[in-house]
Amino acid sequence: MSEIVGPAAAALASLCPDDVIFLQSLPKAELHAHLNGYIPIKTILELAQKYSPSSSQTTEVADIIEKLKSGVVLNDLFDFFSLMPAIYTLTSTLEAVVTTTCAVLQLFLNPTSDATESPQCTYLELRTTPRTTTHMTRERYLTVVLDEVEMYPATRATLIVSVDRCTSDSDLEEYISLALEMKNRGRRVGAIDVCGDPRGGDMQSFTQHLSRAKGASLGLTVHIAESTNNTTEDSLAFLSCRPDRLGHATSLSDELKTLFFEDIPQPGTECGPLSEFGLRDPLHPLHSKFQDLKEGYFLRFVSDSTESEEAKVQMSFRADAEKFSERAAIKDIEEMIKQAESPNNARVNGQYKSCIEICLSSNLLCKTVASLDAHHIRYYLKNDHPIAICTDDALLFRMSCLREYFLLLAQPPLGLGLSRDDVARIAQMGMDAAFLRPRD
Ligand SMILES: [Zn+2]
Repeated sequence: MSEIVGPAAAALASLCPDDVIFLQSLPKAELHAHLNGYIPIKTILELAQKYSPSSSQTTEVADIIEKLKSGVVLNDLFDFFSLMPAIYTLTSTLEAVVTTTCAVLQLFLNPTSDATESPQCTYLELRTTPRTTTHMTRERYLTVVLDEVEMYPATRATLIVSVDRCTSDSDLEEYISLALEMKNRGRRVGAIDVCGDPRGGDMQSFTQHLSRAKGASLGLTVHIAESTNNTTEDSLAFLSCRPDRLGHATSLSDELKTLFFEDIPQPGTECGPLSEFGLRDPLHPLHSKFQDLKEGYFLRFVSDSTESEEAKVQMSFRADAEKFSERAAIKDIEEMIKQAESPNNARVNGQYKSCIEICLSSNLLCKTVASLDAHHIRYYLKNDHPIAICTDDALLFRMSCLREYFLLLAQPPLGLGLSRDDVARIAQMGMDAAFLRPRD
């Protein structure tokens, strides 16, 4: 593993050797790990050495690969982000996919000479999107990745098929069919994940496909409310499918937590009853949706009215239009929430407790959370809601499963200052939230 940096470095420095031994010995599950975000630098450099340039790559990617060949030192987050297109080029053959998957699995699951960091976890769920290139079909890609995953016993590794939010309807159908086909053939596919740019895609149209996957007993995890760019409608669409796990859930509003989660809000985490829609309040999560609907109804009321133009500018007419448009908008929102709760939309009706995949360092480094003190993990801990400690993209953030646990145990402000009992309980929650892991 690379040199320890970022928030975990300071947390580690504050722990005593006994704390570190305690954390190492805990059985841990890594449930949110993107394959391409974990390829060890050493493997990337080796692939670059072997790579013969092709005419299909852009000059930018060719330049990065040349730099890698010359042994460039990769330092900051920007370097790693700019590296991603080159990583896709370097892993476009089946042979490279096998090499990288094998390297990532070893990184997590095999003991190495660095006993402090290995094996990183007891159980791993690796996620990846089946790719198609001139060298392989999606099915071949998935098959070779599964071949590598299945080198490990089922108690140690499972695969999740990721789909990007911008995936077209037909491609999404293909990904889900492929995942189901593999699962039915006895291959170790545990679940479907939805990932990608929070601003992309229409998640309403995703839900029927996701419900099909759930109905066919595939697990479901989604990147939800990852940032403030995710809208409430977006989160509602996902929650209507009752995913088994939620990735990040950083900006999930209190109203949605109250509406969907079985939690009994503890002091300091309550929110107002949903029936009292404070939709006029700009802070309400559905306020902008309400405003848009209201404006639409207002304009329609004015244009449909048979009143004269003079009458339409009168205060009384405007007040009627206002009242009508507000009532119609509230009705639409009530319908939207009812739809989300409809038994046709959800396998399980009513509230539920989906495990939240918490990625502390990733959130801090991407600045979706200002500090550990302000982190949403505190809400879930306080409300006894299941969570799993995960890493997201180790290559980008230079973290490891163990390093995230340093942040739990270290005293504030370097960490959350949790007790050993609490940390052990959290580790167990991660193990319990696994999709396919047979119980020991
Ligand atoms: Zn992720």
